[in-house]
Amino acid sequence: MGCYKATLRYLTEAGVNIGENDAPRLHPPHTHAHRAAAPVPLLQRMRGLALPFRHANGNSAWLRAGGGPHPLSLVQAFLRYDLLPLPARLGIMRTALRLRWLSHSALQNLDAYSAEDWLRRCAQGKEAIALFWRPVILATMNTEPADASAKLLIVVLREIFFAGAEAADILLPTVGLSQLLIEPVRQTLEARGARIRTGVAATAVETYSISDGRLAVAGVQADERYAADSVVLAVAPWACDKIATVDRDSSVAVRGGIVQWILPDSLSWRRFIPSEILSIHVWTTRSLGEAPMTGLLGTTLQWVFYKGRSRDASWHYSCTVSAASGQETTDPVVFRALLLKELRLLNPELAVDDILHILPVREKRATFVPAPGMEQFRLLPQTSVQGLFVAGDATATGLPSTIEGAVRSGVVAAEAVLRGEGEVYVPTGGPSQVRNSSHH
Ligand SMILES: Cc1cc2nc3c(=O)[nH]c(=O)nc-3n(C[C@H](O)[C@H](O)[C@H](O)COP(=O)(O)OP(=O)(O)OC[C@H]3O[C@@H](n4cnc5c(N)ncnc54)[C@H](O)[C@@H]3O)c2cc1C
Repeated sequence: MGCYKATLRYLTEAGVNIGENDAPRLHPPHTHAHRAAAPVPLLQRMRGLALPFRHANGNSAWLRAGGGPHPLSLVQAFLRYDLLPLPARLGIMRTALRLRWLSHSALQNLDAYSAEDWLRRCAQGKEAIALFWRPVILATMNTEPADASAKLLIVVLREIFFAGAEAADILLPTVGLSQLLIEPVRQTLEARGARIRTGVAATAVETYSISDGRLAVAGVQADERYAADSVVLAVAPWACDKIATVDRDSSVAVRGGIVQWILPDSLSWRRFIPSEILSIHVWTTRSLGEAPMTGLLGTTLQWVFYKGRSRDASWHYSCTVSAASGQETTDPVVFRALLLKELRLLNPELAVDDILHILPVREKRATFVPAPGMEQFRLLPQTSVQGLFVAGDATATGLPSTIEGAVRSGVVAAEAVLRGEGEVYVPTGGPSQVRNSSHH
């Protein structure tokens, strides 16, 4: 979204071209590759909120910003969302205004409450929760309203709706996320002399003792040993448990040793409960429309993204189920029938033979549940080991588990490395250098 400011800076720095689409239509590059004069941008900004919704009962509506100035344009969007009766729409606006003006201390206190509790306290009824708040919470926090921190929900809503006109813009990649988020940055870093290796698991962080029983980083062990003055550990909390510490001098390894140095108590990584996302790719011989994304309500599928035409001219869609239960695909016959039924909301003429191919992709540990009370367990970039830093979406970014949180945490960790715990900044005649004081 437009509020992903750190992510957009990160992409711009890597030379990624961001396109503009006034109309909410996405043309994936392969669709019109033969006629494309200029290269299609890797990311398309859809200016102005404009999302179509279909309900299982056959009703449909748009959440579409009006022509007025921000934030009036968003008020118009809520007023037009006629899946809900007018009093419920006005209630959503009242709640939005309330969260806009919440004081800092009131916001902190709300981390103890679930989003559902808070919404009920704001007099939000079942319908408003089901048709507005729950889809927003699932899409942004990958969890159910009862399991989401009220504080984090409010932070997210403020970032989207009250951080300027562009913050609510949706940006859609025209390529896969590796091509968008990883490759351009990899090329930029390698051009600046970085050496990048992927597909290799770090097994241990090597340490040595310094004064007062403290440890400092000496390197990382994987399939080979890498000496290092600073290490930024950017793996998910549950993956930290698999990383040992190894004493450089004695070679004594402590299994799961890294956890005790980065988390307040060595078991607190278990508080990070993974939440699943199920993506289902579907190829059809009949069009379900070319809206870039459509929200479904009262259904198992939550969003349908149009991915373009394939080489065999079939239509390619990707459907999303956030906070998936793991049961959706158990019975292939039931699953296929469910897909057919729910995709018919986009085109009632869709027949079973129109579905050429279905590819479900289940990511069991897509995000962690941003539960009430979790904020206190999120990590700071600095650890008690000199030279060891932590990054990633589980750190104390103030956001739920998101790309933006991960990028922001990377910036904070890089700044902490450059400020240097145990490192001294040596202004020399040439370009400034950071030199480690520990003689490595
Ligand atoms: C299907 C799906 C859809 C999503 N949609 C969105 C979205 O629309 N918007 C959004 O903002 N967020 C979305 N997310 C969440 C987003 O992807 C994460 O918040 C983000 O990737 C977190 O980044 P990270 O760098 O903290 O962790 P990760 O991306 O999890 O990166 C951690 C890396 O560490 C590696 N690793 C683990 N152990 C080791 C080891 N021992 N040695 C070396 N490497 C190791 C892992 O392989 C992994 O590559 C989605 C996630 C999924 C799965």
